[in-house]
Order: sequence, then C-alpha cells, then structure tokens
Amino acid sequence: MFAEIIVDVLSSEVDRVFDYNIPLVLADLQVGDRVLVPFGNRKIEGYVISIKETTDVPEDKIKSIVSKLDDKPLIKPELIELAKYMKSNLYLRLLDGVRLAVPTQVRSGVKDKFERIISLNLDMVDEYLSNLSKRNKNAPLVIEYVRQYGKVDYTTLAKRFTNQTINKMIESGVLKEVKNKVRRLASENAERSVCELTKLQLKAVAEIEKSKDKPIVLFGVTGSGKTEVYMRVIEDALKDGKTALMLVPEISLTPQMVRVFNKRFGADVAVLHSALSVGEKHDEWFRIFNGEAKIVVGARSAIFAPLENIGVIIIDEEHDGSYLSDSNPRYQTHDIAEFRAKYNACPLVLGSATPAIETFYKTETKEYNRVEMPIRVNQKPMPKIEIVDMCNEFRLGNSSMLSGNLLEKLDETIKANNQAILFINRRGFSSYLMCKECSYIPKCTECDASLVYHKQDGVLKCHFCGKKFRVLTKCPDCGSDSIKLGATGTQQVVEILEDKFPGVKIFRLDNDSVTSKDAYSKILGEFGKTKPSILVGTQMVTKGHDFPSVSLVGIIDADISLFNYSYKASETTFSLMTQVSGRAGRSEAEGRVVLQTYVPKNPVYLTCANYDYLKFYDKEINLRETTKFPPFARLIRVLLTSVDEELVKNATHSLIMKLKKFRQQYGKDFFFLEAMKSPVNKIKNKHRFQIVMRFEKSIADSVLCELYSILDELRNSKLSVFVENNPQSLS
Ligand code: ADP
Ligand code: ZN
Ligand code: ZN
Repeated sequence: MFAEIIVDVLSSEVDRVFDYNIPLVLADLQVGDRVLVPFGNRKIEGYVISIKETTDVPEDKIKSIVSKLDDKPLIKPELIELAKYMKSNLYLRLLDGVRLAVPTQVRSGVKDKFERIISLNLDMVDEYLSNLSKRNKNAPLVIEYVRQYGKVDYTTLAKRFTNQTINKMIESGVLKEVKNKVRRLASENAERSVCELTKLQLKAVAEIEKSKDKPIVLFGVTGSGKTEVYMRVIEDALKDGKTALMLVPEISLTPQMVRVFNKRFGADVAVLHSALSVGEKHDEWFRIFNGEAKIVVGARSAIFAPLENIGVIIIDEEHDGSYLSDSNPRYQTHDIAEFRAKYNACPLVLGSATPAIETFYKTETKEYNRVEMPIRVNQKPMPKIEIVDMCNEFRLGNSSMLSGNLLEKLDETIKANNQAILFINRRGFSSYLMCKECSYIPKCTECDASLVYHKQDGVLKCHFCGKKFRVLTKCPDCGSDSIKLGATGTQQVVEILEDKFPGVKIFRLDNDSVTSKDAYSKILGEFGKTKPSILVGTQMVTKGHDFPSVSLVGIIDADISLFNYSYKASETTFSLMTQVSGRAGRSEAEGRVVLQTYVPKNPVYLTCANYDYLKFYDKEINLRETTKFPPFARLIRVLLTSVDEELVKNATHSLIMKLKKFRQQYGKDFFFLEAMKSPVNKIKNKHRFQIVMRFEKSIADSVLCELYSILDELRNSKLSVFVENNPQSLS
C-alpha cells in the first residue's frame, strides 16, 4: 500500500504531495496521521492525505515512511476533505489546509500541564517519624503542614521546604502524589441559569433548527436577544449528542461573550483565539480533539476546530471584517463554515443587526433562509442619532474636531454625572484627501472610486484602474486651499477635552494606550467605575462591555470608512455607525448619538440615523446592480509577490497577456484593470503587484478554472500568487 503525503517544508511556496510506501509495521496507518518521512537526506514531518494501492513512482525510487508520530490521526477526516475542498475551490495549498487544521501550538511539542497533589500516607506517618534521624528538622514540619491542609500542591510545598526534601519523602512513601491534568485557561463555574425566551426568540430557534439544507440569516436588531437564541440552539444540539461551533469577531475584545458562555455551559466550552498563550491554545485544542469540550467559542480560525458531529455552526456579527483572512492563507470564514455545515448536515446561522449586503441578497434570492427579530427584548427604542454638518461648523469658524453640538452634549452629560464615549473612526492613518470647505473628495475620472493618497510617491491613485493624479493643493470645486488629509488622532481629541473640561477624567483606548490584553480590560474597568468621565478611542470602543451610565456617543469623523477605496465602504460604515450607536442608552439614561460628518446628506447616514437597514439595503443593492459589483459580478484580485521586483513585474506582464485573450474570448463579460503596484508596495521586503478583474457570474466557473491553471504554472518557489474573491480591501 502507498500513502500520499503532504510534507511540511516551511519555506516552500509549492504544494508538495509525494507518494511513500507504507511498511508492514505501519499497516494500520490512517488518513490524517502525522508521520516522519525521508526527504532528501533529512527526515521531516508530513501528513497522510490519502491511502492507495498503486503508485506511478517506480519501485526503486519510492521511499518508505519511517514512523507514525501520534496514537491517533491529528487531522480528522472532515478536515482532510476540507483541505482538499479549499485547494480546488478557494485556491489554497493543501499545506495551508493542513496547517490550519493542526495549528503550530499543537505541532510545537507543548506538553500537557499537570498539577501534583501531595497528601499524607497516614499509615506510615508514625513509623516514618520514629525512624527519622534527629538531624532532619524539616520532615516533621512538612508532615505537620500537609496534615493541616490535607492536600497541598507540590510546587507550594517545594517552595517552602525545598524540592529535595519533598522528593525524598515521596520516595519513602510517607507522602503520596497524584497527578492531575489541568487546564491552563482560567474559567468560571457554570450556573445554568436559563431564561424564558420571548415569542420572537422561540420562532427564531425553531426556524434555525429546521434550516439544515441552507444557511440561515438571523437578522435581529441590537438588543433583540440573539445570544439567547444561539445558546438555546446550542443546548438543543448538545441534547442530541452533538457539538457546536460559535464564532465571534475579535474575541479578545469581546470577553463578555466568553463569560456568558462559560457561565451557561461551564467546562463544555473551549475557547480559541489568537490572544491565548501557547500552552492555553494547546490545552483548548486537545480538549476539543479528545471530545472533552463540546462547544467551541472562538475567533475566525476556530472554524478549523477539530470538532466532530457538529450540530450547529454560528457566525455572530457575520458582517464583521475580521472573518476575512486577508493575509496568507486567505479565506472567507463563511466559505469554510458552509462546507462544514454541509458535511455535518447541520444549520449554519449567520447573525447580525446589519448583515453584509451579499449575505442579505442571498436571503432575497432564497439561497439562504432568513428569520427576523425586529424588536429589542426590553422594548426600548434605539438611541436617537443626530447628524452634525462639519462643513457648516467650519463656515461658522469652528475648525476644531469637535462640533459645538457635541461639546454642548458633552457638557450636559458631565453635569448629569453620566459618561460619554467618543469614537474616532481611524485604523492606521487615513489616506484620502478632502476639501474642508465644501467636502470635495477627488475621484477617479474613470471609476466611481475615491482616490488614495500615496505618500511615498506623492500622488493620488485610483485603486481600480491604477490611474495616477497629481495631489491637490486647491479645491477644483470651490477654490479653497484648505485641503486636508482626512486623519485625526485620539491624542488630539484628548487634549481638546482636557482643555474644555478640566478635572473630568478622560480615558484613551487605542493601539498606543493598549499594549496588552490586560491594559485593555484595565482601562475599560476604570472607565466603568468613574463618573462622570469620557472614553476616547478607536474601533476598540465599539466592542466590549456594556456601560449602563453611557448616555452619549460621539462619532468624531464618520466619513473615514465611507471614503475607503472599497466597494464595501458604504455597508461597512452603516454597520459600524449602528454598532457604535448601540453603546449609548443601554439602561436607564436615555441614549444620544452625535454623528459628525462632512457629507450629512449621504444616504448611508440618513438611513442609519433611522436604523433603517432595509432602506439602506435597497439603495445599495441597486447601486451594485447598475455598477456591476458583487453580488452581481465577481470581483477577483490576483496578487503577485516576490522579493525580486523584476520577477514579479515579468510574471504580472505575462499574466496580462493571457488575460487579454480572456477579453477576446468573453468580450464585455470579462473586464480587467491594468496591473499596478499594490497600494502597499512592499511588505516584509516582498514587492507586490496586483490585477483586479471583474466578470459576469455566468462565466465565473470557466474563467476561474482557466485562471487557476494559468496561475498554477506561474507560481514558483520565488513567486507567490494569491487569489481573492470579492476582496474587502485592496491594500
Ligand atoms: P443581541 O445579541 O441581539 O444584541 P443580547 O442577546 O445581548 O442581544 O440581549 C440583550 C439583552 O437582553 C441581554 O441583557 C440579555 O440578557 C437580555 N435578554 C435576552 N433574551 C431575554 C429574554 N428572553 N428574557 C429576558 N431578557 C433577555
Ligand atoms: Zn472645496
Ligand atoms: Zn479609476
């Protein structure tokens, strides 16, 4: 018998599957087993992808597997199938699939952690003491100590009385030792408090449990009680003897979700996210692998958790950008989730108050099911959103980042001894230019896209066609020379506030102030206890705890995500604004939101201020249809990278020549935009070139099939080639 083995060569860009002979001693080898194989003159690790009776490799060339590395296959059959699916459908390497299925923390040889519990062997104590030499003063003290506490941790004991003493006493038998495996991740105890579901919630549960043939969107406003629905569905799955997978965005920033689940399900829950230590991740992964944990709560990569017999998969806040892995290996979590839901014939729930446009569209075309919860559990209205026109502020002589209206409301909030959150909509530095007087933003002459400022080259570029424009110094619309980079900083805002509101405590939450997981919860914890106070921060303030005393939310610069150069800019802005607004007025105090913008008439804000997702959706889907953007066409980005600039250039060029043939073949249905350097020219010394193409869905299958085989030929050990479907960002 022979095995197809994917070898784990770290630096390799090429998918390497080789045939190996299965020696008789390994006759019980299974698909998914981790093995040691000869490779060149080394021995390296590999994974069994399939087992077969024949091979094309000549008998004198084929090598034999050296050994099997674990008792059980580390990769379960489902995840092997998934890796194959990802290779053929998502253009990932098998090796990527394998590495996602068996994360580094599992492969790196971390060991289980044991606690050593010491107790007295009472039968031996008297005899031991009577035979003890007078010089041994410690042993009687140890016995006294252990007698007092009954059971003592080895480390505590050894610290007090030295390792040597304790080890000797264990050897002699007077101390007994028991080893217990411990879970490194601290967790709270369960108190299975179950609440009575509302009618709407019960209906949602029923619809979800019925929906095994296609994914179902749970469209529920913030506060409609989606979490309770998830928990009920999970509970029912467990009752059926099944497991459950629940994904949340950026889990390290949403600790309350983990807490809620721990409280309800206790040790049945395993947690997986990037902020865990290596040891914690190891423990959690094996708790899932061994079937000890039935529920996984985790961030994006948890979609690869080694669960078996899954009864439900939930993606909470399904619209969130963190579900797209935009660096290698690139994938959209939904695609993986759909595969696993199909494999397990279980419901896939996509929950959100503001579903992604493409997701909602699928519910309209009946590709997905949909169930709605339009009312909050506590029947409270959403906080009122006021839109402030910043152009007007500027005309009135206020060039500060805070409008008169916002300052007034801040003053009221502080006088009422409440709290405010000010949100600065900025990730990294922003890169579009804008006229401060009339809000003109330079756009490409060929495409409906804001131009992006490339600081390095000192030009404005269109990220769809690559066309370059000179940087503006004067506004072509109104002649003003107040052209500004649309960037502001948390620090600046804090300074203004300290000046305006002396003595009021101001907290700052951004990448500079949050250097660790602990710093994050510490700042939030202190904010929660301080009244009155103001919290200023980036995206980080939009998630996290509920603060009942927050009565005001200010959005300093709403537009930044709106003029992002992605076709998803409007929907991202809509959902972000909705989410931030939801921070205000969670309990007694009435909530208010002040949204500052330079384009107050933009339909995104007008619909958002009324919490009217459906109206926003209608406008946006029409726009997508007329402009032929997803879901009405496929948008593909091919990204080529290499440390060798000439090499990428040439490869890109040869790809263009081939794409020109596509254009001849498919005519209008196929459209590609000349290649260009990626907005981020170089990452880790690799030069990046990209080609963005757009084509009709009807020809998607044949285009992709051809494209993939072209790219397969193109890529080599010096050149990486990535393909992204409907990319959210083109940086
Ligand atoms: P969502 O996730 O839809 O924003 P949550 O699940 O956080 O909403 O629920 C909002 C609040 O309502 C929470 O405090 C939750 O405990 C409470 N809640 C949810 N369902 C019920 C219910 N059936 N009865 C009472 N309170 C509920
Ligand atoms: Zn202007
Ligand atoms: Zn353009």
